Amino acid sequence: MTAEQDARGFASKAIHAGQAFDPTTGAVIPPVHFSTTFAQDGIGGLRQGYEYGRSGNPTRTALQTQLAAIEGGAHAFSFSSGLAAEDTLLRAALAPGDEVLMGNDVYGGTHRLVAKVLAAWGIGLRVTDMSDLDAVREALEDKPVKVLWVETPSNPLLRVTDIAGLAALGHEAGALVVVDNTFATPALQQPLALGADVVVHSTTKYLGGHSDVVGGALVLNDDALAEKVGFLQFAVGAISGPLDAWLTTRGIKTLDVRMQRHSENAQAVAEYLEGHPKVSRVYYPGLPSHPGHELAARQMSGFGGIVSLALESGEAARRFSESTRLFQLAESLGGVESLLNYPDEMTHASVRGTEAAVPVEVVRLSVGIESVDDLLADLDRALGEV
Ligand SMILES: *Cc1c(COP(=O)(O)O)cnc(C)c1O
Repeated sequence: MTAEQDARGFASKAIHAGQAFDPTTGAVIPPVHFSTTFAQDGIGGLRQGYEYGRSGNPTRTALQTQLAAIEGGAHAFSFSSGLAAEDTLLRAALAPGDEVLMGNDVYGGTHRLVAKVLAAWGIGLRVTDMSDLDAVREALEDKPVKVLWVETPSNPLLRVTDIAGLAALGHEAGALVVVDNTFATPALQQPLALGADVVVHSTTKYLGGHSDVVGGALVLNDDALAEKVGFLQFAVGAISGPLDAWLTTRGIKTLDVRMQRHSENAQAVAEYLEGHPKVSRVYYPGLPSHPGHELAARQMSGFGGIVSLALESGEAARRFSESTRLFQLAESLGGVESLLNYPDEMTHASVRGTEAAVPVEVVRLSVGIESVDDLLADLDRALGEV
């Protein structure tokens, strides 16, 4: 990036980084490159380093440039899914015998990846409440930790962790500090600037933003770690395909305005739910009643689109989950359309009975960018059926 490009605001970077017009035709939107292989000018004479689709593709390069720019990192890598990105990072950072310390309400699949897959290769896992820095300090003193893994706000309980505080603790203990920034997105929160070493994304969610492409990403500054990650991206091969990369790039261009509207709608939904007699608790960092509200207000530039709520019982939560119409009952989050998820049996079924289990009374909403009155009316009607 030139100094002028680097000085641009977030929305300008999201729209322009990696998106220079096509030099041969002037096409303002760069073409999608489907070619799996690239002609060589004599043996080894590569044009701009492109050789074979797994090692590099111009459409993927464009996305990676855009991702690095919006997260403020030196290196970005895009993958076929969020979990593929996580797996590649953990294999690059860990060796048998190493330990990972993870938040106790991380995405269920992240917990499963370490507990059920990497465990067989000798990786240890402990979990703690990352929003409690004293608990983290104790856990770090207890036993050496190689990777400290946090999601903030967390999924689905929206706990807020002090990234700068956690990074300081982690670095003191010699750990790599990883932040899954899927929920907040770089439009609202910039973990690298707060001291984290690596940002992880499921781009399937807000970055793609339209529930039509699965993908993942890593963004980091350290050159040596980037070399390892780049080697594994190539050697293991969980790359994003050209059309997936292009859809993700297109989504990111509107990330800034989408996150503003997601946050506005979610705030209205959270305030409505907080006043409803059938709702026993609302989890949303934008509410002054949320224990992480002040920290979130400092660390984030908006509170995001995810709202969780607790009803009186598991049965009430299930009934409510099956009663909304505009909020569709489906896994995933971060699309323009509103979704409702019942974590205990859906996204977090894999962590039932573990330390990362979600209470049965909890329902998670991914508040979309529809007209807010329609969203409130849908929730009101569904709560009437509980
Ligand atoms: C969905 C999700 C993941 C996993 O990403 P996939 O793209 O589904 O592989 C990781 N972290 C968080 C916070 C997620 O929401």
